Amino acid sequence: MVERYQKIYWPLENIDIGIESKNLKKLEKLGIRSISDLLYYFPKAYDDRTNIKKIGELRGEEYVVLKATLLTISAPPTRSGLKMVKTTATDGTGVIEVIWFQMPYLRKSLKIGEEYIFIGQVKRGYIFQMVNPEFKLSSNQRKLDEGEILPIYSTSKELPQNSLRKIIEKTLNTALSIINENIPDEIIKKYKLLDRKQALKAIHFPKNSKNLEEAKRRFAVEELLVLEMGILQKRFEVDDLNKEKYQLEDKKNLVKKYLASLPFELTNAQKRVITEIYRDLANGRIVNRLIQGDVGSGKTAVSMVLLLYMLENSYQGVLMAPTEILAVQHYLSVKDKFEKLGVRVELLTGSFTGKKKLKILEDIKNGDIGIVIGTHALIEESVVFNKLGLIIIDEQHRFGVLQRKALKDKGVLANLVVMSATPIPRSLALSIYGDLDVSVIDELPPGRKPIRTKWISSDEEITTMYNFIDKKLQQSRQAYFIAPLIEESEKLSAKSTQELTEEVEKFLPSYKIGVLHGKMKNSEKDEVMEKFKNKELDILVSTTVIEVGVDVPNSSIIVINNAERFGLSALHQLRGRVGRGQHQSYCFLVSKTDNATSKARLQVMEETQDGFKIAEEDLRLRKSGEIFGTKQSGLSDLKFIDIVHDVKTIKLVKDICTDYLKENNGKIHNDYLAIDISEKFKEVK
Ligand code: ADP
Ligand code: MG
Repeated sequence: MVERYQKIYWPLENIDIGIESKNLKKLEKLGIRSISDLLYYFPKAYDDRTNIKKIGELRGEEYVVLKATLLTISAPPTRSGLKMVKTTATDGTGVIEVIWFQMPYLRKSLKIGEEYIFIGQVKRGYIFQMVNPEFKLSSNQRKLDEGEILPIYSTSKELPQNSLRKIIEKTLNTALSIINENIPDEIIKKYKLLDRKQALKAIHFPKNSKNLEEAKRRFAVEELLVLEMGILQKRFEVDDLNKEKYQLEDKKNLVKKYLASLPFELTNAQKRVITEIYRDLANGRIVNRLIQGDVGSGKTAVSMVLLLYMLENSYQGVLMAPTEILAVQHYLSVKDKFEKLGVRVELLTGSFTGKKKLKILEDIKNGDIGIVIGTHALIEESVVFNKLGLIIIDEQHRFGVLQRKALKDKGVLANLVVMSATPIPRSLALSIYGDLDVSVIDELPPGRKPIRTKWISSDEEITTMYNFIDKKLQQSRQAYFIAPLIEESEKLSAKSTQELTEEVEKFLPSYKIGVLHGKMKNSEKDEVMEKFKNKELDILVSTTVIEVGVDVPNSSIIVINNAERFGLSALHQLRGRVGRGQHQSYCFLVSKTDNATSKARLQVMEETQDGFKIAEEDLRLRKSGEIFGTKQSGLSDLKFIDIVHDVKTIKLVKDICTDYLKENNGKIHNDYLAIDISEKFKEVK
């Protein structure tokens, strides 16, 4: 049976489904080599006259059918020398620019005042634009039966739309006869999905738009199912293997004592997240969890509780941070408290060498050190644990998938908790971390006031800002000033820390200023941070080395220079350095930019402090494939799922897979699905 399935992967020339041999080469150029390729060569759009888009409804880059009347035609010269015909057209709801290259004759054949159908990709410029679309006079359009929807494929010169359509129409039924269902029956029934044959038929030649939507839904599920089922099946195996081996005594004395030593009570959200992880452990599950909490939500305290809990139950733990500054800060924040509890915690970073390092490595190996806090240095081969039970990665978006894995490989059974403040929209989190559970700290500690954010764009405003800051410093607050560069640069018209320090000295002469940048020695950095923390410095001029994690609650002002040079998530992180205490905090974004996108970013920052909103705005500007190493995770080629927006489907499929695996004891009873999964994961590894 499985062999028959393979037939759909045979080269088309070896299998007669009625394609003329002269067309085989042409199909190959489009990437169609097998029946499977042909069946899965999905239309990029549909000629659906019941569904012509209005220009005024266009939102982003999409493939559409428009009906619009020509307003202007011109043939301006181009720099590249290509011949261009440029037109504008309207449908009464908006205007679009339509451009053709190397088709000069259109200048004569197109008529102002005539109505045309345009089919193609819309691009976003200062107004919407279509380049080289297919088009025809609206009155010439083939009379379509009411509700008929025609597929529009990506084509080539040799194989135009109509020919390809005919080939697919003619061979579809034969091709379908050798394809098998790859979604288990019970799932098809339970979630009322179209079966594979119906769906393939409908995706190419839908009966109506409802039929098309059903087909799309089925393929969205299919596509994710292959991925998630693969990821979750592995997870299932790991959990199953470890159920017996991993046993905690569930002692919580250290945790209780530690909590009692804190000057605050945990928020409900912090407590909930801790309980979620306790519960995983109690169930004998290997913890594999993302803790997502906006900047300042108190992830550090949560991580310390977990480390202590594991330690009391006889497992070592590590906390890995992306920068030395952050690792040191974490270490110093718990050192005394832990020592009072009789817990030995040590720091291990790249700047450790010689005897000191050897001693630490030895004590980690023999188990004398219970908790290690550090940087990348922790993933070196020389670091060997006695009994590693918990790995926590702070600011995990700063690390690659491989680093996460390298650390995990050190503890055969290690539980993994990754923490991230860079807000990842839920859907993305669920999908990228398909194998991770997600806990959200959705509450800030009490008493935090929203940070007031202002975009400063003129010299007068800069002066006013400095006067304002002067007053706040007099009330013994502290301030960060961020510069994008270390040294002056001629190429970039951005401020260096040096220039910025001079400016700050000029405006605020009576305060103590410290400087921090990436080129300083670690010991120097630590000293400056320490002084700032102890209020020996009023002002810290810094590069983005303090972007993540740094926590000095008394510092309530941050000035970000050349704010246009930072992405939204960096701005959000930087702003998160303030607003960490009881004082009203302020963020000034200094930028004289003219760039429209930069301006839009600064406005978003002024308007909202909600990490999710900011992340979503940020993602709108990027392609999901570029984010957080999704390339390695096999998510970059999803066709039917928009991992940013399709939360519901992603969640649904994850649940489907979890239930299925539970009911079937981790086995997949569908040969075709099993093959698809192994194909998919071959590619990912
Ligand atoms: P992040 O989630 O950004 O890592 P931190 O763990 O650095 O946040 O915590 C931010 C600040 O809030 C720290 O100064 C920390 O001591 C304080 N904090 C954490 N939890 C609470 C709480 N429940 N109540 C009051 N302050 C808290
Ligand atoms: Mg943090």
